[in-house]
Amino acid sequence: MNELPSKVDVAIIGGGFAGMSTAWALARAGVRDTIVLERENELGRYASGRSAGLGRQLAEDNETTLLTVRGAEHLRTLPGVWSPTGGILSFDDASNAEAYSVRATRFGVQADLGDNQLVVARWPHLADMRVQRALWVPGDGVIDVGALMRTYSEGMRISLGTAVERVEAGAGVQLVTTRGTIVARVVVDAAGAWAGEKTGGDPLTSFKRHVFILDAEAEAKGPWLWHLGATEMYVRSDSEGILASPCDAAPSQPGHQAPDLVGEAHLRRVLDAADSNLAGRPITRRWACQRAFTENRKMRLGRDGSRPWLVWAAGLGGHGATASPAVGETVAADVIKALS
Ligand SMILES: Cc1cc2nc3c(=O)[nH]c(=O)nc-3n(C[C@H](O)[C@H](O)[C@H](O)COP(=O)(O)OP(=O)(O)OC[C@H]3O[C@@H](n4cnc5c(N)ncnc54)[C@H](O)[C@@H]3O)c2cc1C
Repeated sequence: MNELPSKVDVAIIGGGFAGMSTAWALARAGVRDTIVLERENELGRYASGRSAGLGRQLAEDNETTLLTVRGAEHLRTLPGVWSPTGGILSFDDASNAEAYSVRATRFGVQADLGDNQLVVARWPHLADMRVQRALWVPGDGVIDVGALMRTYSEGMRISLGTAVERVEAGAGVQLVTTRGTIVARVVVDAAGAWAGEKTGGDPLTSFKRHVFILDAEAEAKGPWLWHLGATEMYVRSDSEGILASPCDAAPSQPGHQAPDLVGEAHLRRVLDAADSNLAGRPITRRWACQRAFTENRKMRLGRDGSRPWLVWAAGLGGHGATASPAVGETVAADVIKALS
């Protein structure tokens, strides 16, 4: 996009899944005078483009699960976005498995409770891991994050290389950007780990997570495995090998994405602890990025309490890819209220 418009109904700060799904949901609801302002020269430069693509419906709490279940429902309908692999959640604590099973029933998600045979059958590389109980969730899947971003961005008005520097509320809200000033009726703060920086509001806390591709083979299109034990980790099959994350969460500054040796050592330790033959496999690719959380770990979605022109789409944490269609819908509904 060359020229910035001088006025819009809705200005969205941030071109990650939060901002793009909001623009997409607004367009579906007939609100088209929107613009996404993205500081980088591409969409999804941070968490959204670095996501591991696990479409996991059962999250840690009910509020998030409501969004991930609804999000997955949408994702399954988007051409080229969802692979229906199913997922396995494994536990070293049987009561935690029970809690997830109860949550599955509450949200109508099919989840079959079993034991470590579920892991042995599909992930023999992790057959010796200490697993008390496991859940087979046939409706889980894998998200093609590039295809999802393309779906969200098709036909949207997006200004790349446009950093919002200040937001000034007056008769209309002025967004002062590196490419000029825009007046908007409603502003959506979807700035990821930077949410609140330009609009005010409690800052989020960012934790760096690594993802690795190991030179190893797994059942193509087979289910991913997410171990929710003392040493959390996940693995899934990938066209390049096995994708693995040690689920590390080192506090770090937004934007510090360089993979480091601490993350790699964490992966080796977790795989060693699981007595896995994957521990010695070569790493062929690695990346890292922040997951950004609010203080209570619940997503910050919807209208600001004191500024009627501001709507939040922030704090998507570790489930933002899966939840994003539902995040977009929720935020868009509040934007429409703010416009009326
Ligand atoms: C390593 C990793 C693995 C993950 N794996 C999964 C997974 O398997 N499944 C899952 O569901 N979720 C996963 N997630 C979580 C998911 O990726 C995030 O929750 C989601 O991408 C967050 O989206 P966002 O739009 O809030 O943030 P971002 O993608 O970070 O987008 C925010 C955007 O705002 C822009 N911005 C910031 N400030 C300004 C400004 N002043 N002006 C203009 N633009 C600005 C930034 O440049 C950025 O592009 C993972 C996350 C990480 C880091």
